[in-house]
Amino acid sequence: MNDALAGRVLTRTDFRVPRLATADLTGREVREVVSRGKHMLTRIDGGVTLHTHFEMDGSWRLYRPGARWTGGPAHQVRVVLENAEWQAVGYRLPVVELLPTDDEATVVGHLGPDLLGPHWDPAEVVRRLLADPGREIGPALLDQRNLAGIGNLYKAETLFLSGLTPWTAVRDVPDLAAVVARARRLMRANRDHWQQTTTGSTHRGEEHWVFERAGRPCRRCGTPIRSAHQSERGRELQARICYWCPACQAGPAPD
Ligand SMILES: [Zn+2]
Repeated sequence: MNDALAGRVLTRTDFRVPRLATADLTGREVREVVSRGKHMLTRIDGGVTLHTHFEMDGSWRLYRPGARWTGGPAHQVRVVLENAEWQAVGYRLPVVELLPTDDEATVVGHLGPDLLGPHWDPAEVVRRLLADPGREIGPALLDQRNLAGIGNLYKAETLFLSGLTPWTAVRDVPDLAAVVARARRLMRANRDHWQQTTTGSTHRGEEHWVFERAGRPCRRCGTPIRSAHQSERGRELQARICYWCPACQAGPAPD
């Protein structure tokens, strides 16, 4: 997104969210595009930042003018940014807002180190995780205040490769730094394409070890993969579905 937009003047903007229906940034130059976890910040001349968030299902796609848009049905398009060379199309973005660039900290200031960011700081991530040692590792990894950018897929796959169930307490994880490093390796391996594979295979049905494979045999040992929801009392984090191999992953798990 930065390569396609930064330093170029917007020739058309189209905000398809009610609050921004009349907004128009045509004629302004994009300064840079940066990501913070699942947030994306598009900084635009005049001290304006377009803040979008991917949540579970959002994506930005880049097209050459005239190319067919393939990211989903038209009604899922939330925003379009165009310059002379590129069309950037944001699909299924639950957050699309404009704010003063000076106020970016109000939307991303709470985030932990970004897994894919330029200021990655694994020691700080481990420190933040250990600040709540009794917390279960699954939700702790998803909490963007600990580290930013990991989603449910990478959490599930990282914990499979680490041999730990999501219900393992943070204090019982033998090597937190290794878990965090593994999550980053998986995400970095996928950052330049939209498919998300953690096994190295992009063949349909072979992309993941456990994610969305409930009931199917573990690729490593053949045991049926299990799934269950995990939630935390008193936390606003929503319950997330977990996938794990009961043979390959040690630690507590629901019956
Ligand atoms: Zn297994």
